[in-house]
Amino acid sequence: MIAILSAITLLLISSQNVATDILFSNEHEFEQQARYEREQKLSPEKVVRKLHRIVIDPGHGGFDSGAVNKERGLGEKDVTLPLALKLKRYLEERSDIEVFLTRTADYYVTLSDRTVTANQYQADLFLSIHCNAHENPSAHGFEVFFGSKEPSDREAARVAAIENRLGLDDPFFQEDNSINIESILSDLRRHQFLRESEQFASSINEGMKRNVDIRRRGVKSANFFVLRHAQMPAILVEVAFLTHAKEAELLTDEQFQDAVVRAIGEWLVEGNGDKEP
Ligand SMILES: [Zn+2]
Repeated sequence: MIAILSAITLLLISSQNVATDILFSNEHEFEQQARYEREQKLSPEKVVRKLHRIVIDPGHGGFDSGAVNKERGLGEKDVTLPLALKLKRYLEERSDIEVFLTRTADYYVTLSDRTVTANQYQADLFLSIHCNAHENPSAHGFEVFFGSKEPSDREAARVAAIENRLGLDDPFFQEDNSINIESILSDLRRHQFLRESEQFASSINEGMKRNVDIRRRGVKSANFFVLRHAQMPAILVEVAFLTHAKEAELLTDEQFQDAVVRAIGEWLVEGNGDKEP
């Protein structure tokens, strides 16, 4: 009987220790997060990180047309570049943010070089611009993504698989051969970037709501090669579907392009203070 009681007592003590360990571990994380939030003055609604430099990535280029609308002979690469150039101009005219592009004409840049550019410029935000495609021609709307190991849903996984196609031949992205940024960045920094990326994505989604009459498919996450090694918050927008007849037409429409640029650029400028005279 005594032996049984002792065993129960021991069990209780050891389970208490386990519980205490869990508590401490959670408290440690909680304190780290609280400190981070104080430093960054983050609120769920608004990103207040000061943006000094942004790298905009016009998706695809050169032999890589990306998604194609065959009827119009229109490739994704032909839409992403003018959008990126317009956004660069918009931001430079209204803010002190320095803007760099990963490509400035119709040439091919590997997925890894795009992130390398952003890392070399030590950008505060990496924004990759794309257009969506679907075998169902009625699929339509705007989507915005941030990177994560696990996709938020099947649609997010589908989009990432399309955008990652050319990355499969890129040795930089084969985990065994690559410099693993994930191991260089501390868990906390990765967590910060992820959180900020999600906020940037939400803000852009709100901007679209205000400025563009288009279905919003939501903020999602998936494992995009082009975002994976960014050492800063990184997001990818799928502006509209090239495989949808009406949206393909809109994507080449100057007014629509300007509205999309305003939707993305407006809050970046607002959140960043006035342009110095
Ligand atoms: Zn794309």
